[in-house]
Amino acid sequence: MIAKELIDWYRKNKRDLPFRLSKDPYSVWVSEIMAQQTRIDTMLPYYDRWMKQFPDVRTCAEADENDILKAWEGLGYYRRAKMLWAGAKLVVDGYGGVFPSNYDDIKKIPGIGDYTAAAISSIAFDQPVAAVDGNVLRVVSRVLMSDRDIAKDATKKYVAQILEEWMAGFDPSDFTQGLMELGALVCKVPAPECEKCPISEYCLSYKTNSQSNYPVKSASKKPAKESYTVHIVIDKGYLLVSKDWTDGLMEGYLRLPQVEDDSHYFDINETLFTHKHVFSHKIWSLTVARSSIREDVELSSYWKWIPLAEADIQPWISAHRKILQKYLKKSDLASL
Ligand code: SF4
Repeated sequence: MIAKELIDWYRKNKRDLPFRLSKDPYSVWVSEIMAQQTRIDTMLPYYDRWMKQFPDVRTCAEADENDILKAWEGLGYYRRAKMLWAGAKLVVDGYGGVFPSNYDDIKKIPGIGDYTAAAISSIAFDQPVAAVDGNVLRVVSRVLMSDRDIAKDATKKYVAQILEEWMAGFDPSDFTQGLMELGALVCKVPAPECEKCPISEYCLSYKTNSQSNYPVKSASKKPAKESYTVHIVIDKGYLLVSKDWTDGLMEGYLRLPQVEDDSHYFDINETLFTHKHVFSHKIWSLTVARSSIREDVELSSYWKWIPLAEADIQPWISAHRKILQKYLKKSDLASL
């Protein structure tokens, strides 16, 4: 039985990760949200810090927005932090701080989609619901030699059905975590280690030596390239910052003024360096300048002055924090 082999292997080989110490749904939730688009090694220090600062759903719900954003700073995909915070508020206000145990109720929490709801239901509440992420799609596609495009929702539904058949009658929590662990440690993207795999006897791609043909995924769009000038404007110990989040990126995090056309607001005193920042869907090519504001212009309503000495305690988008750190280091002004 595929589920039995998988669960036995997981129980013997699972990594000792802090969010596996209990079945607390809040810890599972935080770990799953942090692990989206982020490697486990990278997210672990953030997870530890987060759980010390916000050890339960109530502390998280009652935290100040700035503290939430600051704790997430550097982890990327910042909308996740705001949704986690909004979700914690809903659990406290709507459920008296007790996490709902039903899949449909869990899915109503802000920021929780099909995958996270299924992961929490199965891992924390032992419900036989399949959590289908990229790792799981890869394993199942290879086992079945499936030519279905894993970018399509229909494939995710198909894989979820298969998994729910496989896990029927077995421990849903260890089955779900076992499949995730197998995808992360053994059935890896470029080179699956099939000789270590507990389910190799069921795997059609292993039997036909065609592992590298799976999974099948339609090509994604290339990220768009955008060029801007970032202006560092410091006047009498105050730094000009921007709260313009109209592009929908990282709302709540401070920015330096970043514009396509600098002719209107700024006089560039010195062009300093260039910086490239890569998002999943776009690439920023940034020219960084030490500038001053033109005397005759009115400041944009998005901009404000903050004491330079307080810049460090603010949450920043990572691209601009790196730029500011580099600038301050070079100019010996202060550390950030
Ligand atoms: S046998 Fe190899 S390809 Fe098949 S599931 Fe295991 S690791 Fe993946």
